[in-house]
Amino acid sequence: MTTAGAARPAGAALERYEAVIGIEVHCQLRTESKMFCSCSTAYDGARPNSHVCPVCLGLPGALPVMNRRAVELVLATGAAIGASTPDATRWDRKNYFYPDLPKGYQISQYDLPLAAAGTLTFDTSEGPFTVRITRAHLEEDTAKLVHAEGPAGERISLVDFNRSGVPLMEVVSEPDVRTAEQARRYAEELQLLLRTIGASDADMEHGQLRVEANVSLRRRGTEAFGTRVEVKNMNSFRSVEHAVAFEIERQAAILDGGESLRMETRGWSDERGETYHMRSKETSDDYRYFPEPDLPPLRVDAAWLASIRGELPELPAAHRTRYRDALGLSAYDAAVLVADADAGRLFEATLAAAPGLEAKPVANWVTGDYLRIRNAAAGPVRVDPAELAALVRLVADGSLNRTSARQVLEAHAQSGEGVEAIVGRLGLRQISDTAALGAIVEDVLAANPAAVADVRAGKAQAIGFLVGQVMKATRGQANATVAQAAIRERLDAGERA
Ligand code: ADP
Ligand code: MG
Ligand code: ZN
Repeated sequence: MTTAGAARPAGAALERYEAVIGIEVHCQLRTESKMFCSCSTAYDGARPNSHVCPVCLGLPGALPVMNRRAVELVLATGAAIGASTPDATRWDRKNYFYPDLPKGYQISQYDLPLAAAGTLTFDTSEGPFTVRITRAHLEEDTAKLVHAEGPAGERISLVDFNRSGVPLMEVVSEPDVRTAEQARRYAEELQLLLRTIGASDADMEHGQLRVEANVSLRRRGTEAFGTRVEVKNMNSFRSVEHAVAFEIERQAAILDGGESLRMETRGWSDERGETYHMRSKETSDDYRYFPEPDLPPLRVDAAWLASIRGELPELPAAHRTRYRDALGLSAYDAAVLVADADAGRLFEATLAAAPGLEAKPVANWVTGDYLRIRNAAAGPVRVDPAELAALVRLVADGSLNRTSARQVLEAHAQSGEGVEAIVGRLGLRQISDTAALGAIVEDVLAANPAAVADVRAGKAQAIGFLVGQVMKATRGQANATVAQAAIRERLDAGERA
């Protein structure tokens, strides 16, 4: 397969076939120590094999001890997705050989996951969408293989056990996703949820959130699922969307050619923009799961579960609903403010700094101009909530037009100078006071008798010319709406006289 598949119009295959996609997400839980030993999980940047002990090195005779916090974080995730939890569970050994798995088996959960049957709902460009979550279970991470060059230029693989035994949660979805966009959005929403409840830092680039998409196609109008291909190695949300879109087109081309698919695991290459064969897929029978004899079964008592549930913060979906219903924000603004923690903080702090200030314009400034300035800036950008509130007030009472306000926000973000001071220094305050504009209007009318005659004769454009003259006379500071009203009033009064 070449990149020809990617060059076709995106989504063309979706006219003939329906994609059926189930997503598996592995995420490193936010704990201080590893899953079954007391080694620290803070090994980022540390010397390889400096955070290890007999347990996470898989030495014979070493015994695992369960990390209570890790269990709590999976229970919290289960509560947050509305899943059910068994009264008791146990640990199972998943057996396979690979150099990153020193024991020759991974301690995992097979038929009694800590969370089962939940859902996750998120917005897409085609409206809200819900994916059923089959299960979330707890297991341990593997070591990391580092591929390098040996002294004689030969290719060698090194094993770093710092990651070995880090608590890992696997979240498996039902095959409910139908498009590449839904796949990306599901992963984004899960990341947001995990961060909100503090279960994981869930940074994809650091491998704390690993997304695998199981993709199959079926002809539109048919029920039976097709052969699935597992796609992995996507290291950004964009890659998830691109990989799934590519895989849909690739499979469609194979099916259209009269061939059939084989179960396989494929990797995604960002550089080539295509998936590639990694290995044929194991089935769960190959793992010879059996109960872990070195750990006791785990009882989840109701009070423990209730206290975990009681400590959950406001979840993203409820947060968005509150912003829409109670504050009148648009679905877009609500989604941005809930997903972007920094923007959300500025929004909340601005409202707190100015009681009574309307939320909607504040949201507009934050999701619009603030994010534009922040995302374009090379370094960190600081907007003072009280100053943003002052800016919103000046726009609301007509003292500042939008263009000037934008300029003021940019200047404030750059230097920290106060909004009032910037407005004064740059002479941006709009003249909205009819009395203040009166004398200028008088002068403009006197100096432009021809335009005045045109307006009187019913030529609508002529009033625009007169407003332009007022703007010119005030160096752009006049409020154009107020100026126009003042001109009309003058001319009407003149007519009556
Ligand atoms: P495995 O261990 O083989 O990865 P799991 O049960 O952990 O199996 O995960 C299987 C994933 O594949 C689930 O997300 C499931 O919804 C999805 N899936 C199962 N059958 C299909 C199919 N025919 N097409 C797409 N996804 C599928
Ligand atoms: Mg799996
Ligand atoms: Zn250890």
